[in-house]
Amino acid sequence: MNKKQKQITFLSKNRRIIQAVLGVAIYFGIGYFQISLWWVVGFGSAIGIIWGKVFCRWMCPVGIIMEIMMKMSPNETFQRMYQYHKIGCPIAWVSGWLNKFSFYKIQLDANSCKDCGLCDSACYMPSIDKQKFSLYKPGMTDPAENFSCSKCLECVSVCPNGSLTFKKKIPFFTAKE
Ligand code: SF4
Ligand code: SF4
Repeated sequence: MNKKQKQITFLSKNRRIIQAVLGVAIYFGIGYFQISLWWVVGFGSAIGIIWGKVFCRWMCPVGIIMEIMMKMSPNETFQRMYQYHKIGCPIAWVSGWLNKFSFYKIQLDANSCKDCGLCDSACYMPSIDKQKFSLYKPGMTDPAENFSCSKCLECVSVCPNGSLTFKKKIPFFTAKE
């Protein structure tokens, strides 16, 4: 595992702490400094151009509360469905759509992949629909480009071979990557 993958793994394992800190900061920013909610919506959507739907699982104060509540459910599928269809938030609409076009993407190195399936097990989309989604099986829908991927990076973090990375892939200019 290279240095960048180690950093991603560290971030992924500490995501909830990061989200709680940033979520509280945003919450107080809105309340104390009177930052307009529209600025938050604009910012959360705009960063989707760079990283896709990162706001929901890394910064959203409502998202962290929802995730904790769903984690308390005894139903494992329900626990993992967090944000599968997050239809109530304009940030999710815009940045989820940008998952297809963002500069940074989750990418597979098929040469080093050992087909162990750990990445699919870590992602809520293949666990809900095994026939449709896969991060490594050829010919299947890539969950990382789907609207529902909120860049938790757990798929990258669990891969034992470092075959998945989250790195720059500029649309239409991928040859030199
Ligand atoms: S980052 Fe990976 S594990 Fe998380 S939702 Fe996206 S594809 Fe699934
Ligand atoms: S976890 Fe890594 S090695 Fe295993 S199937 Fe996924 S990409 Fe391939």
